[in-house]
Amino acid sequence: MDTDSLKILGHLGRIGYSEDGKPRLKYRAIDPADRYVHCSCGKPDCWTEQIVPLREHMVALFRAIVVCDFEGQFGIRGQAEETWPGVIYALQMAASVEDVFADPSHVDDSEAGLWCSAAWEHDEEDREAASKYAAALIIFNFVWNAYEAATEISAGTLFSVDKVPVRARQLFKAEPGLTSDVWAFDISYRVARHICSKLPALKESVDSIEKKYCLSGASAAAELGRVFRNYIAHGADKMPIGDSRAACSRFYSVTRMLLLLIQLLILRRIQDPAQPVPLSVNQDRGSQRAGLLLRNLHRHEALWLEQGLMPAVED
Ligand SMILES: [Zn+2]
Repeated sequence: MDTDSLKILGHLGRIGYSEDGKPRLKYRAIDPADRYVHCSCGKPDCWTEQIVPLREHMVALFRAIVVCDFEGQFGIRGQAEETWPGVIYALQMAASVEDVFADPSHVDDSEAGLWCSAAWEHDEEDREAASKYAAALIIFNFVWNAYEAATEISAGTLFSVDKVPVRARQLFKAEPGLTSDVWAFDISYRVARHICSKLPALKESVDSIEKKYCLSGASAAAELGRVFRNYIAHGADKMPIGDSRAACSRFYSVTRMLLLLIQLLILRRIQDPAQPVPLSVNQDRGSQRAGLLLRNLHRHEALWLEQGLMPAVED
């Protein structure tokens, strides 16, 4: 067997077997996204038990934009692709990532992993870490694109001389009431800040957000997002070898915060928050007030849907 053929075995390393002998994938690169955020405290009222996994959050946000647009909440009753184009496309792409396969040993010409089982096992761990890292980076980048697009559309002509991430910060600073009643906004920001402050290259910038610049609420979150995105875009983040979980959680904690900021950017542009919108444009699932939907869509539906729910139309 030639070297290229042997390297295909790297893909097979992901296949394991269940107790009844059926083949199964040992992991998918997006597993950490589907587990974010998980807390091990075990308390039923823990806030992490109430929040949906990240990809569900993206789907709920995508659909909320579509239904609000369907009801003419953004002025013209049109197509969400026309009113929030970059947001819709990027959210769909972020939510669409099903799996990624990355193999860091591709650059290695020692071929150690092909002849030594310990080296092979080590390469396997690196492949898992790199695959999960690549998925997290891709998802983060798409959500960042959605956030920048949402900022430009929502801000209109406001703060137009600033770069987009600074515009967002300025906008949120000028409208501090936006986060009120947005469930778990503050804790999501604090988690992201805590995780980012553990990165030595970011500690000073993260500490300055509140201590030096006295930012709070959504403007502090916008600044944290800007700082983290620059850190990633400038190549400062190290590829995680053997420790993918911490690397993924920093991407996903900021991704969660960005999704909430996008909700705020949409929320400030809806015309009538008290007006009911259908929960789906395709299925009859009842209606909910537009403002309440945008403040709660990241929670499990059973926890908030009853609140002022408009029942589905009976046939
Ligand atoms: Zn907990």
